[in-house]
Amino acid sequence: MSEAPDAAVVTVGTELVTGLRQDTNATEVCAALTAAGFRVREVVTTGDDPDSLERTLARLAADCAMVVVTGGLGPTHDDVTREAAAAALGLGLIRDRELVALLEPVAARHSEPGAAHQVLRQADVLQGARVLRPTSGTAPGQVVSTPGGSMALLPGPPAEMRGMLAEILAPAWEGRRSVSLGVGGMPETDVGVVAQDALSGVEGVRLSLLASPGDVRVVLSDAGGGVQALEHAADAVRRALGDACYGELSLAGSVLAIASERGLRIAVAESCTGGLVAAALTDVPGSSQAFVGGVVAYSDEAKIRLLGVPAELIATHGAVSGPVAEAMAAGALERLRADVAVALTGIAGPGGGSADKPVGLVWSAVADAGATSSSSRVVHGDRHRVRERAAAGALHLIRSRMLSG
Ligand code: AMP
Ligand code: MG
Repeated sequence: MSEAPDAAVVTVGTELVTGLRQDTNATEVCAALTAAGFRVREVVTTGDDPDSLERTLARLAADCAMVVVTGGLGPTHDDVTREAAAAALGLGLIRDRELVALLEPVAARHSEPGAAHQVLRQADVLQGARVLRPTSGTAPGQVVSTPGGSMALLPGPPAEMRGMLAEILAPAWEGRRSVSLGVGGMPETDVGVVAQDALSGVEGVRLSLLASPGDVRVVLSDAGGGVQALEHAADAVRRALGDACYGELSLAGSVLAIASERGLRIAVAESCTGGLVAAALTDVPGSSQAFVGGVVAYSDEAKIRLLGVPAELIATHGAVSGPVAEAMAAGALERLRADVAVALTGIAGPGGGSADKPVGLVWSAVADAGATSSSSRVVHGDRHRVRERAAAGALHLIRSRMLSG
C-alpha cells in the first residue's frame, strides 16, 4: 500500500486572520484533498502580507506534493498571491494574452483611472503555469510545478474556488471514494468503539468521526484499500451499528425515506425550534412525498388555537411539559391529517429557566393513531445548540417510532 502524498492548504486574506470572515475554503479544500487521497499535513492562514506568504509558500513547495492556495488573486492592491508565489518559486510573471482578452471588457467597465490597470493584473501568470479559466467571477486560477509537486492558486470567493478545485483534483478523485454513515442516538465515543471493532481486520480504510449537534457521522475513506475494501468496511460498520445507523442519508433524509417506504405522512409541531424540524425535512429534495407540514406554535395562545392544546393543561403543567408536548403532537396529527406527528417544546435560553425547569429542558412527543408518548432531556449549551439538538432529537424520536411501528 503506497503512502498518501502530502498536501498543504494556504488560505490568504486579512479578513480571515482578523475573524471578520469564516475560513470555509480551508475546510472545503481539506475535505476535497482528503477525498482525493492526499494527506493534508498543514493548513496555514495568512493575512494579505506578501513576505509572510512568500516564506510559507517557499517552505511548503519544497516538499508537499500539492499546495492549494486560495485568496489574494483579485484585482485590488491587497491581492498579492501571484507576486508572493512568483518570488517563492523563483519564477517570473508573464501577462497571458488570452486572459488579457478575457479581462479587457471587464477593465473597460471601470471609469476610475488606474482601475483598468488593476483588473489586468489578474492576467499575470507564473512562468510555465497552466491557467484555470474563471467559470464565474473574473479571477483566473493557475497551477504550476514546484520542487515537491504542484501548487494551485485559486480565487478566494468560495463559488469561484470550488469549480477550479474540482478541475485540478478530478484525476486524483477517479476510483477513490469516501463513505459517510450517519448514526443517531449514540454518544460519539460509543460510535467510535463500535466502528473500530467492526473495522478490525479491514486494511486500507481510514476511519474518522464527525460529531455535530444531534448526530455523529462515521467517515470511511479509501486509504489504499480501494473501493472494495471501502464497501466491505461500510457494510461491517452498518451491521455493527444496526438501526442506529442511517447510512449515507442525513437524519432528516432517513426519516423521510422510512416514511415514504411505509406510506406514512409526517407532521410536526414546534415551539422553541421555530421551524428547524420542518426546515430540515423540507431541505431534502422530494420531501413532499411524506411531509405534510408543520405548525410553529410559539406562544401559549398559538398552542391553544392552532393545535387545540387545552388551556388547563398549560395552566396546570406549564408550556414546557410532557402533557403539553403530547397534546401538541396529537393536535398536529389530527389537524394536519398525518399518520405520525412529532412535537417539541423547550426552554432555549438564555433566560426563562427555573430550578425545576432549567434552560435546555426540552420535552418531545410523538403521536400516531395507536399511541402518544413523550420524553424529556436537558441539553447543555447556548440557545443555538439547544435548538439544534432539540430539532435533531425530534427527528430521532419520530424515526424510532416509525421503525418500531
Ligand atoms: P480574494 O480572492 O482574496 O479577493 O477574496 C475575495 C473574497 O472571497 C473575500 O473578500 C472573502 O469574502 C472570500 N474569501 C476569501 N478567502 C476565503 C476563505 N478562505 N473562506 C471563505 N471565504 C473567503
Ligand atoms: Mg483577499
